[in-house]
Amino acid sequence: MLKLIPFVVIAFSCIARLSASDLLLVEDGHARAEIVVAAERPRMTTLAALEMRHFVQKLSGAKLPIVTTPSKTDAIKIYIGRSPATDRLGIADEGLKYGAYRIASGPNWLVLLGHDEDFDHTKMPWPLKRNAVPEEEAKWLQATAGQTDAAWGYPFNSGFKSLWSPGDFKEQMTARYGDDFSALWSKRPGSPEGFWEHDLGGSSNAVYALLRSWGVRWYMPGEVGEVVPTKKTLVVQPINKTIRPDYAMRDWNWYNFSGFAYDDVIWARRLGMNTGHDLVGPLKGPHGMVHVMSAPAMKEKHTDYYALIGGKRDIDHRRGGTPCFTAPGLEKETVQFLRYLFDTYDVPSVDVWPCDGLQLCQCEKCQGKNASDLVWGFADRVARQIHSSHPTKRVTCGAYTSYRAPPPSIDKLSPNLAVWISNCGRPLMLDDVHWKGYQELMNGWRARVAPGNILRLENNRYHIFGDGPIGYPVIHPRSAARDLKAMKGISLGDTGEQSQAQSKWRTPAIEHITLYVESQFLWNADQDVDTLLDEYCRLFYGPAAKAMYDAIHFAEHNLAVKDQSRNGGRANPMNVPLTVSLRLREKLEQAQQLAGDTIYGRRIAAIQADLKSKEQLIADDQQQRQALADARAKAPVARAHAGDDLSTATKYILKDNTTGEKSDVTTQFRVGWAGEAIVFEVVCSEPRMKQLQVAQNVFDGDNIAISLETPLHSYYHLEINPDGIVADGNPGPDWQSLAEVKTERGDDFWRVRVRIPVVTADEASSDPRHRIGGAKPTAEAPWYFNVGRYRVVDLDKPELQAFSPTKRGWHQPARFGKLLAE
Ligand SMILES: [Zn+2]
Repeated sequence: MLKLIPFVVIAFSCIARLSASDLLLVEDGHARAEIVVAAERPRMTTLAALEMRHFVQKLSGAKLPIVTTPSKTDAIKIYIGRSPATDRLGIADEGLKYGAYRIASGPNWLVLLGHDEDFDHTKMPWPLKRNAVPEEEAKWLQATAGQTDAAWGYPFNSGFKSLWSPGDFKEQMTARYGDDFSALWSKRPGSPEGFWEHDLGGSSNAVYALLRSWGVRWYMPGEVGEVVPTKKTLVVQPINKTIRPDYAMRDWNWYNFSGFAYDDVIWARRLGMNTGHDLVGPLKGPHGMVHVMSAPAMKEKHTDYYALIGGKRDIDHRRGGTPCFTAPGLEKETVQFLRYLFDTYDVPSVDVWPCDGLQLCQCEKCQGKNASDLVWGFADRVARQIHSSHPTKRVTCGAYTSYRAPPPSIDKLSPNLAVWISNCGRPLMLDDVHWKGYQELMNGWRARVAPGNILRLENNRYHIFGDGPIGYPVIHPRSAARDLKAMKGISLGDTGEQSQAQSKWRTPAIEHITLYVESQFLWNADQDVDTLLDEYCRLFYGPAAKAMYDAIHFAEHNLAVKDQSRNGGRANPMNVPLTVSLRLREKLEQAQQLAGDTIYGRRIAAIQADLKSKEQLIADDQQQRQALADARAKAPVARAHAGDDLSTATKYILKDNTTGEKSDVTTQFRVGWAGEAIVFEVVCSEPRMKQLQVAQNVFDGDNIAISLETPLHSYYHLEINPDGIVADGNPGPDWQSLAEVKTERGDDFWRVRVRIPVVTADEASSDPRHRIGGAKPTAEAPWYFNVGRYRVVDLDKPELQAFSPTKRGWHQPARFGKLLAE
């Protein structure tokens, strides 16, 4: 924390020890200072002054006056924000970007200053309320009418969600800050009541730094999350410091900022979070490309901008349609759209990240191309044209899902093109294999992107699903710290969705631990995470400090790493064994007992209340086991033929994966047990062989899938395309089957023969990242498995077939069939 407490502040109980140059702000509960702000000032300067007064009173009992004209008394002047007085002192906010601040003192004065600025919504067709959206959208359509021969989607439609202005704004704030609130909170004509999440508030960061130096902490939203010691006397020693954050962008994505409680909103500001508004502006994405394509007139006039999927142009996907990245008209249209936004609203940056759930276009020019090459090739061409006309402006796009890896065919991206590197499994950064993959990804991007153009988007939505208690919490302060330490000077900062529902943080008693550490590392990435957590536990849990430190460490180090599913590209770190979940409950119970019925105990109780009880965990686990046993009692059975030669082996036919009915286009397989290998031969009838889709990444095109669960391992998974390319996992990445594959194509079929090596338990445990660990399947120790086919050809919707239908995707081990060997 050294960087955040750059000066030494000592509370004296004995005034005799005060040196002549020290500033005595409060003496034994009596105010010896006044807060001075400019008569005309941004909202956030007022808020900074109010917060200063509020916490000085909580610390010492003294209430400092807030004035706009310094009194003639010898009271120490605390100048907050820019004012005529700070101008006279020559202390300016120039160069204090992204929330940076200065703290300076002199004889009888202290300056707490950063760049404060009101967000100006009037520059844009920006709705102040939900019901103002149609009117503002109409203004947008009118203003842009001559700019395109069709129409553009309205990019400011959710702007009103960024305004914090509840109906009882004044009452809430008066109750909190005092009767003079309304007089101090001078509202400018034309601006709404309340404040914007985009309001810049550098001066408050200076105020919070000073308060932290007196021991104040904000670990969690609300009073229960505050630590405020009693200090009757408050002193500042001579100081002159400028503090800059290590990361410019420090954003949590609030789905609806305007609906959150003030406790939540102010908590983020106290931790120095921002929205990155001065860096990337209001059009930072994600999925900014949607606005180019979402207007009905565009779909009608330029169907060629939209991806060819199953023989039709997809104009409907998620209301915006799917882009065809090689359509020359779409590129031109996008450049025009961006130029209009830069010229008209002077925004610093515009996003061209495509729609969520992107499918690849099957037109002649797009077909067979790598997803990253398509998406990033397009973004790069657009960015280069913007660079030639608007060299100071930035274009952003996301490295996400199928286009998360850097584009193989591009060596250097346009110098103004920034990448949001998204969802890299931050909770798992302590796992060295995971970390290595992340570093490789990052290095690939660093080689292509100009310095200063890497941003991180990391969703932290692990607790968002359902509204009941949580099985295992995803607490990951050390993983977050490792990421932020390594990315300092490389990434501009963080954004991401947090676990929230109905404008409330979900389980703040759990989430705050990671969020607090993240916020502190965004300011100072060089600090020691153990020191930070040690202080947190000491101040927040009192007598249970050591027990809680241990519980948090345990929770993070036992997150599930290996048993992740590739389904949807997301790992599930909560998927831990029952014993681990129970052990965490025990640790929390021990901590609770040490803390007793105190504020510390109440904080631990809040964590426990968000977690499922032991009884519930055990009951859920039993139910799952029973459901699995029931499903497996009904599982279809296949028998592996003895040996490699499958010519006389039994043929099994796949069924429709959803209905369980016979498929019109048949797929059959045979399986053999050859001792040190298991052998499959899969024959896919295909009347439309010419339309066969062969994707380099295997998943997106025609392929067959084999899942194998052995008594030694949850399951292994392979997908193989008609060219014999294999994508494998166990089921997550970092495992290779080392299978031998042969493929063959006929006039109306394609065939795969795959021989997968099988090793003993000893060998599998010494080298768990290669081959299959298991012994010959028997009635006592069967394997469970599935064979599936993903049939794409030119179908509107790909067809899925399986030996044991799962109704959903492949990663459904409870629905696997049973495998025995002859
Ligand atoms: Zn295309």
